[in-house]
Amino acid sequence: MKRIALIAHDNKKKDIIEWAEYNKNILSRFELCGTGTTARLVSEATGLPVKGYLSGPLGGDQQIGAKIAEGEIDVVVFFWDPLQTQPHDPDVKALLRIAVVYDIPIATNRATADYVITSPLISRDD
Ligand code: PGA
Repeated sequence: MKRIALIAHDNKKKDIIEWAEYNKNILSRFELCGTGTTARLVSEATGLPVKGYLSGPLGGDQQIGAKIAEGEIDVVVFFWDPLQTQPHDPDVKALLRIAVVYDIPIATNRATADYVITSPLISRDD
């Protein structure tokens, strides 16, 4: 089962909840995790289990980055906020970087997330 990490900055939480509700059936086929608040909100909205790491500003982005480095995350949906500076901006940049280093698909907006989770590649075993 492929593992998807979900992260959304505060102004993007509504977007990720709507996206997750809309794609609930597809998402139910994956093992989900996310930064603390995002994981809780998505789980409450969809009823799906979402393993929560720490909140992003408290190290959650770094935990997810470490999981990518360990080969334990296959896809990241990361709705970051391009209109507001974040206290944990270095962590945001590090997460984007490590996903590229390990060639992990990282969808940073809803359109890309839709393409990624409906791609035939996502159901492949490798
Ligand atoms: P949160 O963290 O899901 O705990 O709000 C997201 C982030 O800001 O990286």
